[in-house]
Amino acid sequence: MNPTRRDFFKITTVGGAAAAVFGFDLKPAFAQLRTLKIARASETRSTCPYCSVSCGVIIYTIGDRAKNVTPQVVHVEGDPDHPINRGTLCPKGASLEQDILNERRLLKPQVRRPGGTDWEDISWDDALNEIAAKVKKTRDDTFIERDAAGHTVNRCESIAWTGGCTDTNEFNYLVVKSMRALGVVHLENQARV
Ligand code: SF4
Repeated sequence: MNPTRRDFFKITTVGGAAAAVFGFDLKPAFAQLRTLKIARASETRSTCPYCSVSCGVIIYTIGDRAKNVTPQVVHVEGDPDHPINRGTLCPKGASLEQDILNERRLLKPQVRRPGGTDWEDISWDDALNEIAAKVKKTRDDTFIERDAAGHTVNRCESIAWTGGCTDTNEFNYLVVKSMRALGVVHLENQARV
């Protein structure tokens, strides 16, 4: 069959009449077609890592509940329920998906040895052990019990802590407790979320 333009109008007109006579309602079918692509994605609430404004974001992932499927981030947008940004993001935050899905993104710790020019991959266990050993040695070598006037100060001025904008109040509470226990006095954090 090779319908002409006139045949097409006849067929669609008859179809429309049949729908009217028999009560077909095409609206649900059209509504189904307009379902969002992220409708079946899972939502993860997070914080934009770029600056101290600390805007809330929602990360949409598909495949994370299916067997033998690698989860895939498909969309990132501002969180409309977040009190700081109420759904808005600046251009940097709006490009977060490209930061997550980026072949240059670091997924494991790296170390550059003294005098070295290249970064080496290192396991999390080795990284934590090396950090712990260096913290202990630095503190042991530089701990100050008394200042020049003889006052007891018990401080360690050779270690400093700086936190990121995704650190929560609860995380920062633990940071302050653990750093103060070491005598560290130089503490700062980017955001107050
Ligand atoms: S979206 Fe923009 S303003 Fe908000 S935290 Fe990220 S970089 Fe800062």
